Amino acid sequence: MEKDNSGFAVLRPPGHHAEADRGMGFCLFNNIALVAEKLSRAGQRPGIIDIDAHHGNGTQDFFYERADVFYASFHQYPFFPGSGAAAETGRGEGEGTNLNIPLIAGSGWPELQEGWEKIGRKLMGFEPDVLLVSAGFDGHVEDSLTALRLTDEAFLKIASDLNEWSKQLCDGKILALLEGGYNLKVLRDLVPEFVAVWRE
Ligand SMILES: [Zn+2]
Repeated sequence: MEKDNSGFAVLRPPGHHAEADRGMGFCLFNNIALVAEKLSRAGQRPGIIDIDAHHGNGTQDFFYERADVFYASFHQYPFFPGSGAAAETGRGEGEGTNLNIPLIAGSGWPELQEGWEKIGRKLMGFEPDVLLVSAGFDGHVEDSLTALRLTDEAFLKIASDLNEWSKQLCDGKILALLEGGYNLKVLRDLVPEFVAVWRE
Protein backbone atom coordinates (compact mmCIF):
# COMPACT_ATOMS: atom_id res chain seq x y z
CA MET A 1 0.00 0.00 0.00
CA GLU A 2 1.16 3.52 -0.80
CA LYS A 3 2.10 5.73 2.14
CA ASP A 4 -0.82 7.96 3.11
CA ASN A 5 0.37 11.56 3.32
CA SER A 6 -3.07 13.13 3.81
CA GLY A 7 -4.59 14.65 6.91
CA PHE A 8 -7.75 16.46 7.97
CA ALA A 9 -7.91 18.61 11.13
CA VAL A 10 -11.40 19.07 12.55
CA LEU A 11 -10.99 22.48 14.13
CA ARG A 12 -13.30 24.94 15.83
CA PRO A 13 -13.30 27.89 15.63
CA PRO A 14 -12.35 28.22 11.96
CA GLY A 15 -9.46 30.51 11.03
CA HIS A 16 -9.30 31.99 7.54
CA HIS A 17 -10.82 35.39 8.37
CA ALA A 18 -8.45 36.08 11.28
CA GLU A 19 -5.82 38.71 10.58
CA ALA A 20 -2.39 39.09 12.18
CA ASP A 21 -3.64 41.34 14.98
CA ARG A 22 -7.37 40.68 15.22
CA GLY A 23 -9.96 37.94 15.04
CA MET A 24 -13.05 38.31 12.85
CA GLY A 25 -15.86 36.29 11.24
CA PHE A 26 -15.98 33.55 13.94
CA CYS A 27 -12.18 33.17 13.62
CA LEU A 28 -9.64 33.86 16.38
CA PHE A 29 -6.34 32.56 15.00
CA ASN A 30 -5.62 31.91 11.37
CA ASN A 31 -4.89 28.22 11.66
CA ILE A 32 -3.95 27.63 8.03
CA ALA A 33 -1.73 30.71 7.84
CA LEU A 34 0.12 29.50 10.94
CA VAL A 35 0.68 26.08 9.34
CA ALA A 36 1.81 27.66 6.06
CA GLU A 37 4.17 30.04 7.85
CA LYS A 38 5.72 27.20 9.82
CA LEU A 39 6.20 25.17 6.65
CA SER A 40 7.66 28.17 4.86
CA ARG A 41 10.18 28.74 7.65
CA ALA A 42 11.19 25.10 7.24
CA GLY A 43 11.99 25.82 3.59
CA GLN A 44 8.77 24.44 2.05
CA ARG A 45 6.53 26.03 -0.59
CA PRO A 46 2.93 25.60 0.57
CA GLY A 47 0.01 25.98 -1.81
CA ILE A 48 -3.25 26.90 -0.09
CA ILE A 49 -6.63 26.21 -1.71
CA ASP A 50 -9.60 27.76 0.08
CA ILE A 51 -12.90 26.08 -0.73
CA ASP A 52 -14.96 27.85 1.94
CA ALA A 53 -17.85 29.91 0.53
CA HIS A 54 -16.34 33.07 2.04
CA HIS A 55 -13.12 34.69 0.93
CA GLY A 56 -10.20 33.99 3.26
CA ASN A 57 -9.21 37.61 3.69
CA GLY A 58 -6.88 36.84 6.60
CA THR A 59 -4.96 34.17 4.73
CA GLN A 60 -4.70 36.32 1.61
CA ASP A 61 -3.37 39.23 3.69
CA PHE A 62 -0.70 37.15 5.40
CA PHE A 63 0.91 36.10 2.13
CA TYR A 64 -0.12 38.84 -0.30
CA GLU A 65 3.44 40.05 -0.86
CA ARG A 66 5.08 36.64 -0.61
CA ALA A 67 6.37 34.59 -3.53
CA ASP A 68 6.82 31.41 -1.46
CA VAL A 69 3.18 30.79 -0.53
CA PHE A 70 0.36 30.39 -3.07
CA TYR A 71 -3.21 31.22 -2.12
CA ALA A 72 -6.31 30.52 -4.23
CA SER A 73 -9.95 30.82 -3.25
CA PHE A 74 -13.38 30.59 -4.81
CA HIS A 75 -16.16 32.27 -2.92
CA GLN A 76 -19.51 34.01 -3.09
CA TYR A 77 -18.92 37.63 -4.13
CA PRO A 78 -19.84 40.31 -3.28
CA PHE A 79 -20.31 38.96 0.23
CA PHE A 80 -18.71 38.92 3.68
CA PRO A 81 -15.86 39.82 4.29
CA GLY A 82 -15.83 42.09 1.20
CA SER A 83 -12.42 41.11 -0.20
CA GLY A 84 -11.73 38.52 -2.89
CA ALA A 85 -12.05 40.38 -6.20
CA ALA A 86 -10.42 38.79 -9.24
CA ALA A 87 -8.12 41.82 -9.50
CA GLU A 88 -6.44 40.91 -6.17
CA THR A 89 -3.51 38.93 -7.56
CA GLY A 90 -0.73 39.69 -5.06
CA ARG A 91 1.73 42.54 -4.74
CA GLY A 92 5.46 43.01 -5.20
CA GLU A 93 7.24 39.67 -4.98
CA GLY A 94 3.85 38.08 -4.37
CA GLU A 95 2.37 39.24 -7.68
CA GLY A 96 0.76 36.24 -9.34
CA THR A 97 0.73 34.00 -6.26
CA ASN A 98 -2.80 35.00 -5.25
CA LEU A 99 -5.86 33.91 -7.21
CA ASN A 100 -9.49 34.73 -6.53
CA ILE A 101 -12.48 33.18 -8.28
CA PRO A 102 -15.51 35.29 -7.27
CA LEU A 103 -18.94 33.69 -7.82
CA ILE A 104 -22.31 35.39 -7.80
CA ALA A 105 -24.97 34.24 -5.32
CA GLY A 106 -26.73 31.12 -6.53
CA SER A 107 -23.65 29.67 -8.23
CA GLY A 108 -23.07 25.93 -8.22
CA TRP A 109 -20.62 23.60 -9.92
CA PRO A 110 -21.49 24.71 -13.50
CA GLU A 111 -20.50 28.30 -12.64
CA LEU A 112 -17.45 27.19 -10.64
CA GLN A 113 -15.96 24.62 -13.00
CA GLU A 114 -13.94 26.92 -15.25
CA GLY A 115 -12.51 28.85 -12.30
CA TRP A 116 -11.74 25.63 -10.46
CA GLU A 117 -9.74 24.38 -13.45
CA LYS A 118 -7.86 27.69 -13.48
CA ILE A 119 -6.98 27.15 -9.80
CA GLY A 120 -5.56 23.75 -10.78
CA ARG A 121 -3.47 25.21 -13.59
CA LYS A 122 -2.08 28.01 -11.41
CA LEU A 123 -1.28 25.56 -8.65
CA MET A 124 0.62 23.36 -11.11
CA GLY A 125 2.63 26.40 -12.21
CA PHE A 126 3.50 27.26 -8.62
CA GLU A 127 4.80 23.74 -7.89
CA PRO A 128 4.09 23.51 -4.16
CA ASP A 129 5.86 21.06 -1.84
CA VAL A 130 2.69 20.54 0.14
CA LEU A 131 -0.99 21.28 -0.41
CA LEU A 132 -3.05 22.94 2.34
CA VAL A 133 -6.83 23.15 2.10
CA SER A 134 -9.10 25.60 3.90
CA ALA A 135 -11.94 23.11 3.90
CA GLY A 136 -15.17 25.01 4.41
CA PHE A 137 -18.48 23.35 3.67
CA ASP A 138 -20.74 26.40 3.92
CA GLY A 139 -21.03 26.56 0.12
CA HIS A 140 -23.18 23.43 0.28
CA VAL A 141 -26.66 23.88 -1.16
CA GLU A 142 -28.17 22.84 2.19
CA ASP A 143 -26.10 25.32 4.23
CA SER A 144 -28.23 28.41 4.77
CA LEU A 145 -25.39 30.78 5.72
CA THR A 146 -24.38 31.36 2.11
CA ALA A 147 -26.05 31.31 -1.31
CA LEU A 148 -23.62 29.02 -3.12
CA ARG A 149 -25.27 25.81 -4.27
CA LEU A 150 -22.60 23.12 -4.32
CA THR A 151 -23.87 19.55 -4.05
CA ASP A 152 -22.27 16.54 -2.37
CA GLU A 153 -21.09 15.50 -5.84
CA ALA A 154 -19.37 18.86 -6.37
CA PHE A 155 -17.52 18.58 -3.06
CA LEU A 156 -16.43 15.04 -3.87
CA LYS A 157 -15.21 16.16 -7.31
CA ILE A 158 -13.22 18.91 -5.55
CA ALA A 159 -11.80 16.33 -3.11
CA SER A 160 -10.84 14.06 -5.99
CA ASP A 161 -9.09 16.85 -7.93
CA LEU A 162 -7.20 18.00 -4.82
CA ASN A 163 -6.06 14.43 -4.32
CA GLU A 164 -4.89 14.17 -7.94
CA TRP A 165 -3.07 17.49 -7.79
CA SER A 166 -1.29 16.60 -4.53
CA LYS A 167 -0.16 13.29 -6.01
CA GLN A 168 1.12 14.93 -9.19
CA LEU A 169 2.85 17.76 -7.36
CA CYS A 170 3.98 16.72 -3.91
CA ASP A 171 3.83 13.00 -3.24
CA GLY A 172 0.23 13.25 -2.02
CA LYS A 173 1.13 15.61 0.83
CA ILE A 174 -2.19 17.29 1.59
CA LEU A 175 -3.56 18.68 4.83
CA ALA A 176 -7.06 20.10 5.20
CA LEU A 177 -8.21 22.29 8.07
CA LEU A 178 -11.93 22.62 8.71
CA GLU A 179 -13.22 26.15 8.10
CA GLY A 180 -16.92 27.06 7.83
CA GLY A 181 -19.86 24.70 7.63
CA TYR A 182 -22.98 25.42 9.61
CA ASN A 183 -25.37 22.66 8.63
CA LEU A 184 -24.29 19.97 11.08
CA LYS A 185 -25.96 17.20 9.13
CA VAL A 186 -23.97 18.17 6.02
CA LEU A 187 -20.73 18.20 8.03
CA ARG A 188 -21.52 14.86 9.65
CA ASP A 189 -22.28 13.14 6.35
CA LEU A 190 -19.99 14.89 3.90
CA VAL A 191 -16.69 15.39 5.77
CA PRO A 192 -16.06 11.63 6.19
CA GLU A 193 -16.85 11.07 2.50
CA PHE A 194 -14.56 13.95 1.52
CA VAL A 195 -11.69 12.51 3.56
CA ALA A 196 -12.37 9.00 2.26
CA VAL A 197 -11.64 10.18 -1.29
CA TRP A 198 -8.03 10.82 -0.19
CA ARG A 199 -7.74 7.38 1.41
CA GLU A 200 -8.85 5.36 -1.60
ZN1 LIG B 1 -17.33 30.50 5.40
